[in-house]
Parts: sequence; structure tokens; C-alpha cells
Amino acid sequence: MAVVGGGNSAGQAAVFLAETAERVHLIVREESLDKNMSRYLVDRIARTPNIGVHTGTNLSGAAGDDVLRSVTVTRDGEAAKESLPATALFVFIGADPNTEWLAGAVGLDDKGFVCTGEPTFGPDSFGRDSGNGRRPFLLETDRPGVFAVGDVRRGATRRVASAVGDGAMAVRFVHEL
Ligand SMILES: Cc1cc2nc3c(=O)[nH]c(=O)nc-3n(C[C@H](O)[C@H](O)[C@H](O)COP(=O)(O)OP(=O)(O)OC[C@H]3O[C@@H](n4cnc5c(N)ncnc54)[C@H](O)[C@@H]3O)c2cc1C
Repeated sequence: MAVVGGGNSAGQAAVFLAETAERVHLIVREESLDKNMSRYLVDRIARTPNIGVHTGTNLSGAAGDDVLRSVTVTRDGEAAKESLPATALFVFIGADPNTEWLAGAVGLDDKGFVCTGEPTFGPDSFGRDSGNGRRPFLLETDRPGVFAVGDVRRGATRRVASAVGDGAMAVRFVHEL
């Protein structure tokens, strides 16, 4: 099996898959797992003999017949390609917020995450003054009374507990409006 990515999601997937797969190839663009992965996962991967870590490497192809049979990787600075046997490929290279439909309705940052809390409204934030005479709540967008919670928020912690906590807080803020 092959896993692409150098963050915690990729690391967790590699460790999980290694429990049943004969071999897991972890394909990482960075030169070191330490760049984006938590130390506990780096250590676990190092202790897992059937995970092969390919740092400084990009996925450049996939081949197969009815099913996937191999993936091709290219190492930084090398023209040669290497084929790695793989019957499954898992891609963990980040996620884009699905907020195109919100553009113009609430303020988004340059990556599409919803801006919440200060400074979201008021004359210094998006160049318009809500004029409602109060500071925004922590999870409030630049449209007064509209809240955003969870991963879609700019600067979100991106954990289940914080997404759930955001939701609970937003309900409280709504009651304070
Ligand atoms: C591989 C992976 C591993 C993770 N591991 C952990 C972990 O170990 N511990 C931890 O705490 N967190 C972990 N996380 C993060 C955690 O999953 C998120 O922080 C959490 O799910 C965020 O919840 P959310 O409700 O904000 O977003 P999501 O869980 O992403 O839910 C958003 C929902 O909205 C739906 N949606 C999107 N657009 C629309 C639309 N236009 N109309 C209707 N529905 C729409 C989506 O389909 C999705 O169901 C992990 C994430 C990933 C990807």
C-alpha cells in the first residue's frame, strides 16, 4: 500500500495500515518527517518495520489493470523514476474548505477559510462597518449574527473536540445576541 503525505493524518494512516498490510510505502515530499509530523508518530513509524519512508519524494504516476498494482515516485533532483508495488493508494495532502458558495456572503481569507472573531467586523477589518455597536463574538463572522464553527474557520485547531466545543459556544453566543 502507498500513503502520500507528511502530516499527522498520513502518519496515522501509515501506522494503521501497517497492522494488516505486508508493506506500506509512505511518500513524503519534505526531506524529513519531523517537518510536519508529531514526534510520537515519527517514533512509531521508526519502530514499525513494514513502513518504508520515502522522503524528498513526489508521487508521479500510478499503474495497474483492474486494480492498482504500483505507484511511481520521483526523488528530488533525480530524473529517474522508481516503481513501488502498491494495491491501494491513500492521499493525505491537505484539504481545501468547501466555501466557494459563501464568497460575498461572509468574509473568507485567501485560502477560503471563514474569518471569525476580531477583527472580523468594524471599520478596520473588511473595510466596512457593521454599525451594530458591539464587538463580534469569538465565532462570529463579519456578518453579524452569522457564526462559523469547526475546521472551516480560519485558525481552527482542527480537532474533533474543538469543533464540538465551537458548536456549543456558538449556541451560547446566539442566545446573547
Ligand atoms: C485523516 C484525518 C485524521 C484526523 N484525526 C483526528 C484525530 O485523531 N483527532 C481529532 O481530534 N481530530 C482529527 N482529525 C480532525 C477532525 O476530523 C476535524 O477537526 C473535525 O472532523 C472537524 O469537524 P467539522 O464538523 O468542523 O468538519 P467535518 O468533520 O469536515 O464536517 C464537515 C461536513 O460538512 C459537509 N459539507 C461540506 N460542504 C457542504 C455543503 N455545501 N453542504 C452540506 N454539507 C457540506 C462535509 O461533507 C462534512 O460532512 C482528523 C482529520 C482527518 C482528515
